[in-house]
Parts: sequence; C-alpha cells; structure tokens
Amino acid sequence: MNLLKINDLKCHYLTDVDTIKAVDGISFEIKEGEILGIVGESGSGKTTVALVIMGLLPENTAISGEILYRDELISSLPEPEMNKFRWKDIAIVFQNSLEVLNPVMKVGIQAMEPMIKHLDISPEKAQSKCADLFRTVGLDPKWMDSYPHQLSGGMRQRVLLAMALSCDPKLLILDEVTSSLDAFTRKEIRDLLVDLQKNNRYTMLMISHDITFVSSVASRIAVMYSGRVVETGPVRDILVSPRHPYTRGLVHSTPDIFVYKDLWGIPGDAPAGDGFKGCPFSPRCTQKIDICSKVSPVLTPIGDGREIACHRGGIADVLVAKNLRFRY
Ligand code: ATP
Repeated sequence: MNLLKINDLKCHYLTDVDTIKAVDGISFEIKEGEILGIVGESGSGKTTVALVIMGLLPENTAISGEILYRDELISSLPEPEMNKFRWKDIAIVFQNSLEVLNPVMKVGIQAMEPMIKHLDISPEKAQSKCADLFRTVGLDPKWMDSYPHQLSGGMRQRVLLAMALSCDPKLLILDEVTSSLDAFTRKEIRDLLVDLQKNNRYTMLMISHDITFVSSVASRIAVMYSGRVVETGPVRDILVSPRHPYTRGLVHSTPDIFVYKDLWGIPGDAPAGDGFKGCPFSPRCTQKIDICSKVSPVLTPIGDGREIACHRGGIADVLVAKNLRFRY
C-alpha cells in the first residue's frame, strides 16, 4: 500500500528576475515500509520536494499537483490542518544541525518539544521517552543536558533523528543527513538508519546528492535532474545498468571506497531559469538527437519496475556506450 503518492507536482519559485522551476511535474510513490532515495546534483530540486511535502515553503512559490498521504489529499490543507500531520505522521531531518538546533537551549529540551506540543504528554513522561530515544539513536541520555556546540556533528544529527522519531511518525524524510559528516560517522548513521527501518518498519524518503550512500540504504531510487525525475528503479539495477545518460554520469562521478569504478565527470551545467524547451539534459548529453532539444521526454515504464525519461530509451548497455565513446 502507498503511504505517500505524488502526482504531477510542480513548485516554481517566483523571483524578481526569473521563475525557477525547482520541481517541474514529478510523480512517484512510496510504499509502506520502503526506503525511497531521491538523488541528483545540487540544485536539481530535491530539498524543494521535501519542503513541499512538509508544507514548509516560503511565500514566493507557485505550487500545483497532488500529494496524497494514505490516500488523503494533504497538498491543499490549510496550515492548522497540515500542522497535525507534521511530527506525528511525517517528520523531517535536515542536514545542518547547527542551524536547525537552537544554540542556547539544551538538546534534551529541544528534543522533547515536539512530544509536549503534539502528543499532549507531561514533561516528566516526555523526559523519560526522550532518554529512550537517545538510547535508540546511540546516544547516552546524559547528553540531553548539553548545548548543541558541545556535541560533535554526528551526535547532533543523532539528536535531530531522535527528535524526528519522538512522535512516532510513519514517514521519515532525511535531507542530506550525512553530507557534513566524515566517512566513519556517515557509516555509523547509515547502519543506524538500516536498523531503525528493519526493527520499526519506518518508511523513509532519503534525499542526497550521494548516490553511493543512498544506494546502501534505499531499495528504490528516483534520479532528479533540473526539477524532473529522469529515471527510477530498484537500487541494484540503477547502479549496475543505469539507463539514462545522466544517471550513468551520476553513478560514475561518485567515488566509492569499497568498489573500484571508472570515474567520469559530466561537463556543463543544468539549464537555469525559465523558458527551456526539450530535454533539460540535452545540452550536456553526448547521445542527443534532434527531438531532444525540442520536446521534453516523458517518464515511461521500461519493464522490471524501471522508468526512464529519454527519447532514445537510454543507453542500452555498457559495451555499446564504451564502443561509441559515450562517457555518460
Ligand atoms: P542542494 O542539494 O544543493 O540542496 P537541491 O537539489 O536540494 O540542491 P533545491 O534546494 O530544491 O535543490 O533548489 C532547487 C532550485 O530552486 C535551485 O535552483 C535553487 O537555487 C532554487 N531555490 C531554492 N530555494 C529558493 C528560494 N527560496 N527562492 C528562489 N529560488 C530557490
């Protein structure tokens, strides 16, 4: 059963100089108990997707499309109604813990706040639940008495995770939760997320530019480029045989210390601003044909649970790609 379903979602930022199509007609669903990864380079619209789902966008946005949570349309709910879903149904963990946490409040008090607000429980009960949550995320409850600057980056991410879990949400959105951490701490947080998902069957939407990290946790991946989803499929298939030229570039531009692979780059930049026609990847694509610069390709099923938005149906296999000297 789908926990979350997104239909033709668009989110455009209206600025004084331009309209930025941060999310431009994307659709996907997340099944209960599943971890879906959204990957893509910086500026591809990943965080905007998370913020639209949470209803946390600034006023300079034009939003259309549907967001259904357990078949209930939540995208057009007024703020007080939407607020009931936050923390208890859907919770988010952001990346920059030093900006998210209040520097002059002890982290335990901050982690208890959503419980006191949304679960209507006493401060004593919230305190003991908070201690349990700290243990769950691998922190000694004694750290509840600390200020954010007294903890390491990894410990602060754990505090944010404890806070996000505090009201027992069904869907956890993780936005670049490990991007500022060293490789060792990243692995620890990764193991923690895998354990949480196994033991509690949390449903997760994991957002990151790091396809290698996301692949080690998620079961399915959606690849975003310039506000659109260009490829989706099971993790293993995407890693082993990426079909979209951009996905291929993304896989081969991310180093992995455990697996040897050819490292390539993707020359050029994503199109900026409004008024772009055709496939947004076409200016950087080495296998483009005429139609690519004129018509935007639609995300189309290609079998085995995979979808791709490419007029050429993607690159057929590695051998063909190498023979033709395609680098992505
Ligand atoms: P990153 O990985 O760097 O966070 P991202 O893939 O999450 O990038 P977004 O942060 O969603 O991408 O940004 C998508 C586009 O929207 C970018 O071009 C960004 O500059 C633009 N954008 C984001 N927030 C705003 C805003 N408040 N006003 C105007 N443009 C914005």
